[in-house]
This record gives sequence, C-alpha cells and structure tokens, in this order.
Amino acid sequence: MRWWLLCGAFVWLGCDGGDGKRSLLSSGAGRDVSASVRGDADAGAEAGADSGAGAETGAGADSGAGAGADSGAGAETDSGAGAETGAGAETDSGAGAETDSGAGAETDSGADGDTGPVAPASLNGGFIGGPCVGGGDCDYAGAFCLDQGEGFPGGHCSQACDLYCPDQAGAITTFCVDASALGLGDPGGVCLMRCDYGASPTGCREGYQCQPIQRNTDADTVVYACLPGTDAPFVLDDCHKELLARGIGFTPAPDPLDETDNVPGVICSVFEPIRVSGRMHGVSYRYATATAEVKPIFASCPLAVAMAETAELLADQGVTDVMHFGVYNCRAIAGTTKLSQHGLANAIDIAGLRFASGTTLTIKANWEKGVAFPVTEGGSFLKWMAETLHALLVFTVILTPEYNADHADHFHCDLTEGSNFLK
Ligand SMILES: [Zn+2]
Repeated sequence: MRWWLLCGAFVWLGCDGGDGKRSLLSSGAGRDVSASVRGDADAGAEAGADSGAGAETGAGADSGAGAGADSGAGAETDSGAGAETGAGAETDSGAGAETDSGAGAETDSGADGDTGPVAPASLNGGFIGGPCVGGGDCDYAGAFCLDQGEGFPGGHCSQACDLYCPDQAGAITTFCVDASALGLGDPGGVCLMRCDYGASPTGCREGYQCQPIQRNTDADTVVYACLPGTDAPFVLDDCHKELLARGIGFTPAPDPLDETDNVPGVICSVFEPIRVSGRMHGVSYRYATATAEVKPIFASCPLAVAMAETAELLADQGVTDVMHFGVYNCRAIAGTTKLSQHGLANAIDIAGLRFASGTTLTIKANWEKGVAFPVTEGGSFLKWMAETLHALLVFTVILTPEYNADHADHFHCDLTEGSNFLK
C-alpha cells in the first residue's frame, strides 16, 4: 500500500500534500485516539506479549534464524559488525541500478517472458565471491581462486575457513561452507558470498544462484548463499519484488522453526523469512539507541514492507532514524499457547525517532499519556504517527502507552490478520 495514494481519503489526518510537517503536526493533534479503536479481539492477546520488549536483543532472532553475522566468534547475536556494514552499504549503492536492470530485462525477454532478471557479471570485485582467473585477482590475505574448471563460472575468489569468513565494509557478507558440498575434493571449509538482493536482482552474480547451505562444521546454521548453477534459484514472490522495487536489500533466510521457551511444542514459523537491510528510504532502523549500528533485521517479508512504508512516511517528515526494541522473539503470549506476533517476526516495537535536525523523540519521554490533544510538538508528532500508521493500515494492530503499562516506552506495531486496532 502506498500511503500517499490514500491520503485523499484521510485529509482529516493532514495528508494534504502541502507543507507536510507543519500540517501533519497540527492536524494530527486534533484527532482523538479513541475514535480509531475498532474491535480489540487481538489486542487483548498482545497484552502480555510485549512486556519483554527490552529482551529482544536480536540474540534469539539471529541464532534461531541461523543467519547471523560471521565476523567473529559468538557473533551470532547482535555483534555481527561486518555483516551490518556490508548490508547498510549495499542497500543504497546497488538499489537503483539493479531495480532498473531487472525491469528492463523482463521487458526485453517478452517473447517467452521467462528469461528473468539479468545478474551482474561481477559482485564483490577483488573480494570473496568476486570473479577471478587466478589468486592474484583476489585482493586479501589468504586468497585463492576457485576457477572455472572447478565449476565456478567466471572464477570465484575464496579462502580457507573453519566457521567464519571475513567481511569487508561495503562488500556483500560472506559465509563458510564445507568444500565437499561444492564438489571440491579438498577437505575443510571455503568462503562464499551470501545472496544480496540489494546488489543484484538474482541476489548473485551471473552463473550463480541463491540457495540455502549449511555452515561448515555447524549444520544447524543455514544461510542463503550464491552457489554455482542456474537450475534452481530462489523464487521471488510479490512481497520480495515489492522490496526490490523499493530498492531495499534483503537476503532470504530459513524458517527458524524455534520452539518457544514458555510453551513447549509451540513453534515459531515465519512467513517468507528474510534478513532485510536496516536502512530503508533513507531511514535507519537501529536497535534501542540512536547510536546503535544499522544491521539487517530478521523479519517476515510483509513486516519488512510495512517497515519500508513506515520509513517512507517518516522520511517525508524529516526523520532519519527509527529506534526499535526488536522484531523476532519466539514466545507465546503470556498465559496462552498462542504465538505473539513477534514469534512470527510479524511485529516491531518502535521506541523513538531521530530527525535530520538532531531532535530525538522517544515514546517514553514525549508521548502525552491520556491527553486527547497533545500540547507539545513531540507529543503531537507521535500521536500523528500512530494514527497515520493505523489509518493507512500499514499495521493492523498498534498498541501505545494508552494500552497498558507494558507499552509505556514503545509502540507495538504488528500485522495480525483481520485486525484493525489502535489504542
Ligand atoms: Zn511488541
């Protein structure tokens, strides 16, 4: 959904296309939250679900998803600096180019309509995953070239590894796999490049395809990496294409299928799981604080789209950063056997915003609780934001500090099917 298309229907919210910020701030202040409350069937279910927001450090997310960063031992939690650096950088650089080329390719192939998008001949040039004829084409310590004769189209820069591979700022993240899984006779692990749909419409270089593969010596960790071949690539659906069209980078991720801690037997299965770039439409999603590094976020694809819509809406208001308390957290709602929307990676807890001006707003400090007509600019903006995200159905459930004390410091925003609730 594109919020601006709907603005005509929500003139009362201030979507008048004029001086966005001023009108949005002033008209947003006049709305009564309670007027937007319609049915709370699912909201009650969320009541106990969010109290642990602060615990959503990403540790569960990354380890469960098996798609954490590689940059160091123990980096499966949130410390995967290398991964995030690459992802953040790749989002903006590759986006425009690759979106256009994908579209063009489809147009050109009109005859059979099946040729698909065209992958670039080179990605990660000189680094792991880049093309090579010999090791001299790979510019880093310990490099060697897996050549065409070994089944690597255009050659493939690699290096030996046990568990992890190095990452490089601005380059696509890497991954260590068992050499024998690639048909190589040598024992041990070799480094590959992960898929990156921010850098290529196929996620990979020409001659390679995005497929899941186990980590060397750690079969529980599976990520999507670029493997030689073109016969069975990862298939993009409409949601993935929407992200591509928006120029937002992502990597497919395996369904975590984690078991909840609090209710044995309840499994967290995520719809269209991806690791999406934390940078969308010029807005950076950061965990908890405005200075936290921008990292890929494990989410359902539909949540990633909702986050992109949120970023687009906020970017127009001068917002540069969204601070959040997490997305994926595998647990059932307290006192029930029903999964929290966080267990489906279908919810995000938004804690605050930073503007280009340097102004920071937090739900905790700036939300005017119990006030129908906020008197501060910050309070007005936050109220406008909650009401607009609700009115545009970016999220189907939004719980604010008005809902209960568990939400005193964040907006819980989720995609519960069939709901339409704001409080
Ligand atoms: Zn939440």
